[in-house]
Amino acid sequence: MSVTTKRDYYEILGVGRQASQDEIRSTFRRLAKQYHPDVNKDPVAEERFKEVNEAYAVLSDEQKRAAYDRYGHAGVSGMGAPDFSGFGMEDIFESIFGGFGTRTNSRRSPRRGADVRYDLSITFEEAISGVEKEVQVTRHEVCPTCRGSGAEPGTLPVRCHTCNGSGEVRQVRQTFLGSMVNVSTCPTCQGKGETVATACGTCHGRTQVRQTRRLSVNIPPGVDSGTQIRMSGEGEPGQNGGPNGNLYVVITVQPHKYFRRQGDDIVLEVAINPAQAALGTDVLVPTVNGQEKVRIPAGTQPGTTFHLRGKGAPRLQRSGRGDLYVLVTVATPTNLSGEQKRLLKELAKSLPADAAPQERGLIDRIREVLIGE
Ligand SMILES: [Zn+2]
Ligand SMILES: [Zn+2]
Repeated sequence: MSVTTKRDYYEILGVGRQASQDEIRSTFRRLAKQYHPDVNKDPVAEERFKEVNEAYAVLSDEQKRAAYDRYGHAGVSGMGAPDFSGFGMEDIFESIFGGFGTRTNSRRSPRRGADVRYDLSITFEEAISGVEKEVQVTRHEVCPTCRGSGAEPGTLPVRCHTCNGSGEVRQVRQTFLGSMVNVSTCPTCQGKGETVATACGTCHGRTQVRQTRRLSVNIPPGVDSGTQIRMSGEGEPGQNGGPNGNLYVVITVQPHKYFRRQGDDIVLEVAINPAQAALGTDVLVPTVNGQEKVRIPAGTQPGTTFHLRGKGAPRLQRSGRGDLYVLVTVATPTNLSGEQKRLLKELAKSLPADAAPQERGLIDRIREVLIGE
């Protein structure tokens, strides 16, 4: 600060001696904007700007203000250049520089490691019965040689030459607001205050290494495509003592030749021939746990579904199972022998020539449902 005849601080801000802190603050903001050299090109503006800041530095501090009130400039002259680091700084910068100068978060605070995703494809049967699978996950791990210190075993860390062991760097900058002290985490030692003299040969001082791990995943019965299995703490390592991230194993179930999943239910298509459909039959159908006999009554139409309760997929992490739906289709025979053709022709003579009665039957059924006739 240049030594000149100083004006009264209250006069500079244009506030009364009883002004509240709120009043001082808002007046200061208004004046700081008015005289900021970026805005005001008048040559005296910069000088006014410094004056306003100096006045605010004293009057916004209750202790300094009291000393100033009693002793005038002499009361605060020994306090040196105004120190802006402690108070009101964010407010000033917010309104003038738009957030510039705010404190950066310390890199020393514990941080949780990142989550890792692993996509795993399993068969339909494995999804139904559950399975133990081995997966290979590549992730960062704390270096086993130096145990995360980054130093070659047997060597001692040395005091960081950048911060001299404090873990912080202070930068004093001259700004329009006077000297400004900016404290941040030391970039050389990341706040630890010491650095490695001889870097670890395994991780080259990086403290972590990339490792491929074989992990065993226990897949419970009843999973489906999209099911995520969380393995706590098997993700990327945390920093500064923070917990590890999680590993998420995301399941894809390969399609089955016959079975289709619909949630906990399973759909199975079974083809029968026209004679079976007309006369009725018992068919053995596969289910996910053995065969089941299904009675097909005479006159079964294509598209009829039979419902087998409790023969579906196990409910994931609950008791019980879904159901099995057996969807019947009628396969028209091909490559008939002469005898079969003869029999069918005989049959055809005795059957109605068109399918109209059947169609009408369907329409009638729909009408019954809709109108209740
Ligand atoms: Zn340092
Ligand atoms: Zn290492």
